[in-house]
Amino acid sequence: MPPSRSHDGAPREIEALIEAMARLPGLGPRSARRAVLHLIAKRRTLMAPMAETMARVADTAQACMTCGNISTSDLCPVCTDEGRATGQICVVEDVADLWAMERGQAFDGRYHVLGGTLSALDDIGPEDLHIPRLVDRIAAERVTEVILALNATVDGQTTAHYIAEALEGTGVAVTSLAQGVPIGGELDYLDDGTISAALKARKAL
Ligand SMILES: [Zn+2]
Repeated sequence: MPPSRSHDGAPREIEALIEAMARLPGLGPRSARRAVLHLIAKRRTLMAPMAETMARVADTAQACMTCGNISTSDLCPVCTDEGRATGQICVVEDVADLWAMERGQAFDGRYHVLGGTLSALDDIGPEDLHIPRLVDRIAAERVTEVILALNATVDGQTTAHYIAEALEGTGVAVTSLAQGVPIGGELDYLDDGTISAALKARKAL
């Protein structure tokens, strides 16, 4: 019997690889095929080391126990960096936003990753977003300012107001990134200078 054929004329394992690649954000079937062909052409110098790194990260990646950043151990590099200022926590929706803030190099404190926004529609409540854990961190880390770097979407702003209310009475200042973050704009898509300007011009909520 001849091996089962796919419409590409590629063997089944390679077809499976193309299908897996095509599920990545920003890649469709066409760019997945091109990427796989490129990987195979560079299988010793690129594909094998990449597969090794991927296996290692798949094994070790986890959420930082304190802030929710992606880490390969219990605590992430930001939380273990003793040189960083304590007293300020920047609240972001997801890890991509944390990384965007870090690329901007304007913030020297620590982070809290919500992992989403409050949404009645999707049934996402405060517990799902680790807001109680944020409240615990205020006292434990002697935080004086919480900077909300949430996207200017309706859900992002609803979440911002919820957090501001949850922190009332804790004595902590709650500020928000200045306008400059476009409506519906996601932090990850902003250039580093814009993030830095929005942080400098932050205002009390
Ligand atoms: Zn962390």
